[in-house]
This record gives sequence, structure tokens and C-alpha cells, in this order.
Amino acid sequence: MTNIVVLIKQVPDTWSERKLTDGDFTLDREAADAVLDEINERAVEEALLIKEAQGGEVTVLSAGPDRATDAIRKALSMGADKAVHINDPALHGSDAIQTGWTLAAALGQIGFENDEPADLIIAGNEATDGRVGAVPAIIAEYLGIPQLTQLRKLTVADGKVTGERETDEGIFGLEASLPAIVSVTEKINEPRFPSFKGIMAAKKKEVSVLTLADLGVDPETVGVANAGTTVTASTPKPPRTAGERVADEGDGGSKIAAYLVGQKII
Ligand SMILES: Cc1cc2nc3c(=O)[nH]c(=O)nc-3n(C[C@H](O)[C@H](O)[C@H](O)COP(=O)(O)OP(=O)(O)OC[C@H]3O[C@@H](n4cnc5c(N)ncnc54)[C@H](O)[C@@H]3O)c2cc1C
Repeated sequence: MTNIVVLIKQVPDTWSERKLTDGDFTLDREAADAVLDEINERAVEEALLIKEAQGGEVTVLSAGPDRATDAIRKALSMGADKAVHINDPALHGSDAIQTGWTLAAALGQIGFENDEPADLIIAGNEATDGRVGAVPAIIAEYLGIPQLTQLRKLTVADGKVTGERETDEGIFGLEASLPAIVSVTEKINEPRFPSFKGIMAAKKKEVSVLTLADLGVDPETVGVANAGTTVTASTPKPPRTAGERVADEGDGGSKIAAYLVGQKII
């Protein structure tokens, strides 16, 4: 029996034009379609695979505004059992530490059968909007539990989580005792599509909505006005320019070499 909490975030769809709000450079959530972050679909899938193999319960936890309900419903329609939605306007513009602090407070309250706490918390390695890649580590610190990050494979057995962590340097075998928090990469699995039955069932699943007051989090410690980190400027990447075409008239190789030397690539 493994009781799992999956941290899910609703993000602007990477296929739509994403913008920051003029003024405070927080995310302009209305400017783009909002979706459940794909890395979090994989996190939910991993939790469901563990539950299907060894029993337990899967709860999804999200901090976000009203419309985050859509992302929560998607996770429930994939098969998660219940959800906790932290929804409080004071959270707007929170930085990674404030988000980690708030999620840690909620994790301390989530109980399973017989009021047991979660055995395992699964997060994505990096959200596609903020891309800070630090929230799971911050939560590990606040909760005082081990963290295994950037996992491409994970197994839960005998009170331990074992995983393969992949970085540019190579693949590392890791192990931690439960309870623990892990973050997964896009290599972990291929997430399932919600079935029609799953979508219908999700409508009836329990979603607890909690405010900061419910969590005992002081609103003066979160939000853009109290954040330690501030986004002070934003310049979109220039659009890609057309490439340079090299016509091969028998000397294509040397022309390409000359071009690469000119660009200081070789
Ligand atoms: C342009 C821009 C730049 C920013 N730069 C910084 C910065 O330099 N430093 C900083 O502290 N903040 C920064 N922020 C704010 C940051 O994006 C938010 O604080 C965010 O809530 C946490 O960062 P992340 O989503 O990038 O987290 P990541 O650490 O990349 O997220 C990893 C995983 O944590 C979980 N998770 C993250 N957020 C939530 C949530 N709300 N609910 C549930 N699970 C969640 C998910 O599983 C996610 O896959 C920036 C925001 C923007 C828009």
C-alpha cells in the first residue's frame, strides 16, 4: 500500500503565445490556454502505475487560481482518487520558496486511511512556465524528508524508493527511505489519455479547496509583494531568422567549413 501525493501545476499551453503581465511581470494567465503541465501528467501516471501494482491512494495537490480546477479534473479523470486545491488570491506572484512553503503546509495536512500521511510525493522536475526546477527540493527541506530528483525510473518497495537519476554526466542509482519526495523527467513514462469512464467518474471525485487560513499560512509571507525574488525585466527571444543556404557547386564542403569558421563554431 503506497499513499501518494502528486504535485500538479496548471501552466500556459506551450503551443499558445505566452506572456507576462505588464507592470509586475507575473504570468498573464488569461493570455494563453491553460493546461495540466505535461511533466505533471507523467507524475500522475507514475503514481497510478504504483497504485495499480501495490494498492494505496493517489491525491493530487495544486496551488493555483480558480481555473486550475480544469487541470485538477484532468488528473482525476486519468485516475487519481481525490484532490486538494489551494486557492487564495494572496498567493498571486509567489516565488518558488513561497510556493514550496505553502505546498509543504498542505502536505502536512493531507491524510489517507487511518489518518496516515503520504508515503511518497511525486513532482515534475521543472514546470514549463517558471522553469525554476527547485520546488521539490524546497519542500524536502521544509518537511525534513529525503529527495530524489530528475528520476527517469523509480520503484517503491520495502519502505524505500529507488530510482535512476539522469544528468548530463550520466545515470546514477539512488535510494531513499519513505516518506520521500521525488521529481521525474519526461523519460519516466508515457501518460495515459483519460477514458470516457474516467472523465465521468472525475466529476464525482472529492476536491477539497483550502485557503491560506485553512493551512495556517500567514498571507504576509507569500505573494508578489512579499517575494524574495522579483522579475524586473522581460525580453522575448527574437524570432528565428531564416538559415543561410549553401549551394553545392562541387565546393559545398569548403563553403560550409568557411561559414562555421566565420561563426567561430570551429
Ligand atoms: C518569468 C518568470 C520567472 C520566474 N523566476 C523565478 C525565480 O528566478 N525564482 C523564483 O523563486 N521564482 C521565480 N518565478 C516564480 C515561480 O515560477 C513560481 O514561484 C512557481 O510557483 C514555482 O516555480 P516553478 O513552477 O518554476 O517550479 P518548479 O520547481 O520548476 O516546478 C517543479 C514541480 O513542482 C511542482 N509545482 C510547482 N508549482 C506548483 C504549484 N503551484 N502547485 C503544485 N505543484 C507545483 C510541480 O510538480 C512541478 O512540476 C518566476 C516566474 C516567472 C513567470
